[in-house]
Amino acid sequence: MCIFCQIVAGKIPSYKVYEDEKVLAFLDIKPVHPGHILVIPKKHSANLEEISEEDLKAVMIVVKKMGNLIKKKLSYAGYNVTENNDPIAGQEIPHLHFHLIPRIADDGLSNWTQREYADGEAKEVLQKLTS
Ligand code: 5GP
Ligand code: ZN
Repeated sequence: MCIFCQIVAGKIPSYKVYEDEKVLAFLDIKPVHPGHILVIPKKHSANLEEISEEDLKAVMIVVKKMGNLIKKKLSYAGYNVTENNDPIAGQEIPHLHFHLIPRIADDGLSNWTQREYADGEAKEVLQKLTS
């Protein structure tokens, strides 16, 4: 049983913020800022490919609710929603989870570096994506 399934089962304690039939939201044990929340489906899915659309909808509704709490109850001006999909993307716990990371002005966090498309590259990738 994965560590988040153990949290769902109550075998590992967590600070639960919200729970319903399909979804659990709890505090990340090592927050970027206090109030960093993880939202997970109760049913184990490793990643976005595995979760059903119905369960994903339920999860995203809770992501929205938790975002509102972060702003209204903790007075943050905004937050990032991040999902590390697969180990190559930084996923350490193999149970799908959305991070809600509250942000503070000038907190030094940066998302990622970007680049320009080379000539014809965007068209090529679009053809692959849509064919
Ligand atoms: P990932 O890198 O997989 O996207 O993020 C996993 C997150 O889970 C990390 O931010 C980490 O702090 C958090 N985490 C790992 N183990 C536990 C735990 O036992 N309890 C809680 N509440 N969070 C955990
Ligand atoms: Zn699991």
